[in-house]
Amino acid sequence: MPPKRVLVGYGIDVDAVANWLNTCDGSPQNPTNVSRGVYGATVGIDRLLKLYAKYKIKATWFTPAHSLETFPDQMAKVRDAGHEIGLHGYTHEYISQLSARQQQDVLTRSISSLTKFTGKKPLGYTAPSWSTSKELISQLQAEGIKYDHSFMHHDVQPYWAPDPLKSEWVSTDHKKEAGDWMVPMTKLQSSEVVEIPANWHLDDWPPLQPIPGRPAQGYVDAHVVERLWMEQFDFAYREYDTFIFPMSIHPQVSGKPHVILMHERIIEYINTHEGVEWMTLAEMAEEFAEGRMPGVEVEGGV
Ligand SMILES: [Zn+2]
Repeated sequence: MPPKRVLVGYGIDVDAVANWLNTCDGSPQNPTNVSRGVYGATVGIDRLLKLYAKYKIKATWFTPAHSLETFPDQMAKVRDAGHEIGLHGYTHEYISQLSARQQQDVLTRSISSLTKFTGKKPLGYTAPSWSTSKELISQLQAEGIKYDHSFMHHDVQPYWAPDPLKSEWVSTDHKKEAGDWMVPMTKLQSSEVVEIPANWHLDDWPPLQPIPGRPAQGYVDAHVVERLWMEQFDFAYREYDTFIFPMSIHPQVSGKPHVILMHERIIEYINTHEGVEWMTLAEMAEEFAEGRMPGVEVEGGV
């Protein structure tokens, strides 16, 4: 059997109060939800830093510039512990709802805020709530951002992100004749931005973060979530000689006691496998871009 090479890491959406302030419809946020964001920025960050120090893991902290500018002392602990800090909007804007100009303004401002704070330009980006736009990849490429973590063309392999501006699909519009939308998608065309794919089934938010008004969300037993994540790991380990395993979490969710314990079990289980290397998502992207991880080529369209 050929030796395995498995790149494992955490992408942490810092979010803090930003994702609560952005209610998406302009309605005001209530102070209790804002306090959940403060909990994440303080208690959550401290507990995750302790967890990663215990297991000697360097992670990627995708940080809205609003979170960085609002909690600079907490983010200084993250920076000074040697973790990567990546882009995640200004106040967690859904870029799918922004004009191309607004997207560019948010990107420019957040690159400048992170660069000032860390002393180096950020290498990676994840879209708030993985709600993306046609313009995203071309804007990241023009800004020299090396990798993205928002798309889902694969789950455990890196690849060059297709540029959505360069392929066309026709949305189904019932007000028009059927013949108007019965058209295949045009061929996908790769960009120069590496994709470290996102995966809702490796994200702590939907199963473990209760949301008022959505009673079905947030009350899953952490052992169930752990099994769901580790079954994905087991499948990838059986099927691939090389793969990546990026997990996405939030300090306000994963900082909770029962979820910290889940992460300890997950890390210890993953560490029982040959060929595992913990690293930041930027390091995974570099391994692929420099040819040390084969990854895949995404194909589709005609
Ligand atoms: Zn987020």
